[in-house]
Amino acid sequence: MAKTAIEWSQEAHRRREGLVALRRDFHRHPELSFQERRTAEVIAERLHAAKLEVRTGVAKTGVVGILRGDRPGRTIAWRADIDALPLTERLDAPFSSGTPGVMHACGHDGHTAIAITLAEILAARRAEMPGTAVLVFQPAEEVISGAEPMLAAGVLDEPRVEEVYGLHLTTLTPVGMVQVRSGPTMASADTFEIQVTGRGGHGAMPHLSVDPMIAAANIVLGVKSLVAAEVAVQETAVLTVGQIVCGTKGNIIPETATMRGTIRAFDEGVREQLKSRLTAYAVDIARAYRAEARVRFEGGATPAVVNPEAPTEFVRQCAASVVGEAGVYEGGPVMASDDMSLFLRERPGCYFRVGIQPADRRVAPHHAPEFEMNEDGLPVGLGVALSVMHRALEPRPR
Ligand SMILES: [Zn+2]
Ligand SMILES: [Zn+2]
Repeated sequence: MAKTAIEWSQEAHRRREGLVALRRDFHRHPELSFQERRTAEVIAERLHAAKLEVRTGVAKTGVVGILRGDRPGRTIAWRADIDALPLTERLDAPFSSGTPGVMHACGHDGHTAIAITLAEILAARRAEMPGTAVLVFQPAEEVISGAEPMLAAGVLDEPRVEEVYGLHLTTLTPVGMVQVRSGPTMASADTFEIQVTGRGGHGAMPHLSVDPMIAAANIVLGVKSLVAAEVAVQETAVLTVGQIVCGTKGNIIPETATMRGTIRAFDEGVREQLKSRLTAYAVDIARAYRAEARVRFEGGATPAVVNPEAPTEFVRQCAASVVGEAGVYEGGPVMASDDMSLFLRERPGCYFRVGIQPADRRVAPHHAPEFEMNEDGLPVGLGVALSVMHRALEPRPR
């Protein structure tokens, strides 16, 4: 396995055609979180053909491929997410989504294609390969629900994984550039629901009712200032109410008002403080208007993605050897979240970003129906992944 980074990069570029075809196949057949049945079938088929040990139905629709090299070495996992989003694609291409209302608008089709091709290239060199590579294909990242059951199913324990790596493609970064950042790099996410209960009645006689809408309106205005009041200025957090549901008619005071929103932060202490202050604040404001508030945090919760120093520096070196020193940059953290954070809480490793910006720089954001990737970024991602895996698998010292 004594290949140099340049050779890995050339190998990745030789695979471009197959990589693009595979990505387009997933793009044409997107599947929502925990419904990735066809996707899982294709993954399992390819891994079987490459003679990996394959586990299917892990956390419902997840797949794990285990590749044991013939030389002694370390056990390293590569994690890719595989699900699509509930969107109707605007792009008109032969490989555009064939499923109305479902679209790969985050690049997970590319993540899946890269991870499969990575497995195939490593498998073809099994005789020279040290250690054991564990390819983790995780479902349901978009609803922040797939990582937890995969970890519970023991994907890092059997065999015992020492480090875990992965990449996210990004249209914010030009092709040929790789963003590698240590410390907090993606925000935590907590989804909340506040239900305010009052007493319904006639709109002309509010004094005989308890209007939950007045309480809800004050809560929405107030929670915005919670961040300013509770979070130190050098920390970062966002608290957004994205939905208010209440009422049926202009002259009826409803009985309940429901609000839903999200909290994003990088520091675990800030995260916990905002959650507890939001709860206390909503309850007390509702009480001030004689109503009652109940705050629930449910589903879609994940800590911040935090990359530890040493494996991050290792990835930085691997990336630089593939794209050159000028191609690697640190950049800032992003407020988006990813449940790769749960893997990185269990094992050291690094989650980094690879550029797929369209050549004309007309960038549609991820999760937009106009989202489009520059496929020239796929072999770059594969090249870095190959460099990371083959060096990480070597017995220490690497
Ligand atoms: Zn996404
Ligand atoms: Zn994503």
